[in-house]
Amino acid sequence: MAGYDVAIIGAGVHGASAALHLAERGAEVAVLERAGPASGPTGRSSAVVRGYYVNEFLATLTRDSLDLFHGFADWTHGGDAGFVTTGALFLHEPGDGERMQATVQRLNTRGTPTDLLTPVQIAADFPAFDLSGIGWAAWEPGAGYADPVGTTLGMLNRARSLGARLLQDTQVTTIEPLAEAVRLHTASGERVTAGQVLLAAGPWTSALLSTLGVTLPLRAERHIIATYGWGEVHPVPYIWASMPDGLYVKPEPREQFLVGTLWEEPEADPDDYSGELWPDEQLRIAEALVRRMPGTAGAAASSGYAALYDVAPDWQPVIGAVADRVTVVAGTAGHGFKWAPALGRHVADLLTGRPAHPGLTQFRPGRFGDGALLTGGYGNAKIMG
Ligand SMILES: Cc1cc2nc3c(=O)[nH]c(=O)nc-3n(C[C@H](O)[C@H](O)[C@H](O)COP(=O)(O)OP(=O)(O)OC[C@H]3O[C@@H](n4cnc5c(N)ncnc54)[C@H](O)[C@@H]3O)c2cc1C
Repeated sequence: MAGYDVAIIGAGVHGASAALHLAERGAEVAVLERAGPASGPTGRSSAVVRGYYVNEFLATLTRDSLDLFHGFADWTHGGDAGFVTTGALFLHEPGDGERMQATVQRLNTRGTPTDLLTPVQIAADFPAFDLSGIGWAAWEPGAGYADPVGTTLGMLNRARSLGARLLQDTQVTTIEPLAEAVRLHTASGERVTAGQVLLAAGPWTSALLSTLGVTLPLRAERHIIATYGWGEVHPVPYIWASMPDGLYVKPEPREQFLVGTLWEEPEADPDDYSGELWPDEQLRIAEALVRRMPGTAGAAASSGYAALYDVAPDWQPVIGAVADRVTVVAGTAGHGFKWAPALGRHVADLLTGRPAHPGLTQFRPGRFGDGALLTGGYGNAKIMG
């Protein structure tokens, strides 16, 4: 009855990773993508990779992904994830100290070297900051960023060379449960049948689930990115984020840097939202940036854009079965790129009936109905999970 072992809806970074891990196990896989690979939020991702997480499992996932980023060309037989090690600095309010101490201690014992810095140490090592309201910082020297499109294509191309099929320009409209399989209907009238379905459709997940009669409290948020040229300003070569300001900053190739936000933003319709950065939004970012790093007043605003986060009420991912033979990986908000290479292995376990990693249970879709929402991060910066 089932044409494929697994049909994956969505060729973002999570669909690509699951496809590769499944193909490596000899599964027959089809990836159905309504446009092209990484054409959704993945292609707009800042792709920062940091293990600095309160949540132990997410920190471990990032550590394992970092190993895969470093060995990406070998793993994918020639793919290029474009990973660059920069280090990352996380600035915090005084009240975050206790939680940071526990986090940093755990990270250091689990393979993610991280230093906890006092204001005196921050001022000595990172003199570019105005430290008003800052009580602590964490410095993770192994953090960096990748190329989200290269990462997705590298995994997908390797999956295809192992036999996975990519069906581009193929929009799934309905998920239909059958007695011993699942049938996917597409906008062009095709039908694809599989023993298991993985829904990796980012901000479009809820709409697709509704065709199955399943409801998940996921929403799409519009998040803004502003880009700057360093101009006369001395370039800062590392990533930094400030919890009190709700900002992160990432160096970019070609003498640029990018600034994004850490906090909640307005809900958006994933099929009808503005992808532009508006002047008032640019100003909001510039004011916070210059307040925290006064030297950036001389940087030249170049452009910007807006893209979508798919967000669960607790800002943590949603991973697991939502119906018989239908599994979801969603709700990865603005922090899920980095887990993808390693998470695909755990998702493949779920889809092939292998024992699930115990760390995954906390992210089960049923937690919303059970009132078992997760906690994580620091105040409004839940993204620090
Ligand atoms: C601006 C921005 C900055 C970010 N920065 C970071 C960061 O620094 N670090 C980090 O770790 N994470 C970051 N993220 C988050 C990260 O990019 C996402 O968690 C990740 O890319 C989500 O990947 P995905 O594969 O789940 O979904 P998506 O990228 O949303 O892919 C879903 C795919 O499904 C397809 N699809 C949808 N509906 C259908 C359908 N009906 N039929 C067929 N195909 C369909 C879409 O076309 C799309 O290609 C950022 C995200 C954004 C938007």
